[in-house]
Amino acid sequence: MRVGLLSDIHANLEALQTVLEHLEPQNLDALVCLGDFVGYGPDPNECVALLRPRLRAAVLGNHDQAAFGGRPISDFNLYAQTAMVWTMQVLAPDARAFLAELPVRAELEGVLLVHGSPRQPVDEYMFDTRTARASFVADGFRVAFIGHTHQPAVFVERNHRVSARGLLPEVPLSLQPTYRYIVNIGSVGQPRDTDPRAAYAVLDTAGPSVTLYRVAYAVEHTQRKMEAAGLPVPLIERLALGR
Ligand code: ZN
Repeated sequence: MRVGLLSDIHANLEALQTVLEHLEPQNLDALVCLGDFVGYGPDPNECVALLRPRLRAAVLGNHDQAAFGGRPISDFNLYAQTAMVWTMQVLAPDARAFLAELPVRAELEGVLLVHGSPRQPVDEYMFDTRTARASFVADGFRVAFIGHTHQPAVFVERNHRVSARGLLPEVPLSLQPTYRYIVNIGSVGQPRDTDPRAAYAVLDTAGPSVTLYRVAYAVEHTQRKMEAAGLPVPLIERLALGR
């Protein structure tokens, strides 16, 4: 079974459409989303409408939670707050209802799906092996997929030692049966690893292996829509920088 994994769409319709076109010829068996459908970007309703009917599973992101009023927007920095106020104003009732019903964790084909970390599914940012270790200890998963940091990465536990490694585009990561893994698949709609191309991943359960993909999209098109919506300039500029 081959599963497409998307995360952190952030209402970026051009990035999402480009990713969906890119994975179309791959004939995947299922598609999942690790949260943050909305927030920052100009097309929250369109992104939910496009993705929702295609998903086998999805989990809640911190921006999704704020968008339906499930957490205070004071949790965010000022630019994110401004974008969230705008998002809450334009969010359609059916999109809001969809976000409000997302679970904080899901499982598919024996792998765990969360937004932040297995230990704190919605909120925790996993940037280092210390944080990864805490999740390996707290939860019995063998393979988990995460997003939230918008930076692709892999944390591996073997013999109770945790190490970090990069995840390079189109270089399959083979999942060893005696190791445990936390794989961050990066962000579709707001990459922050200095590569502005949209990121997504494919899990091949037969390998098993995971492969990251990066695809260039029309960043300027999204930026023009953000300007027209009056969204904060730093959020517009960061898309082109990938940070
Ligand atoms: Zn996010």
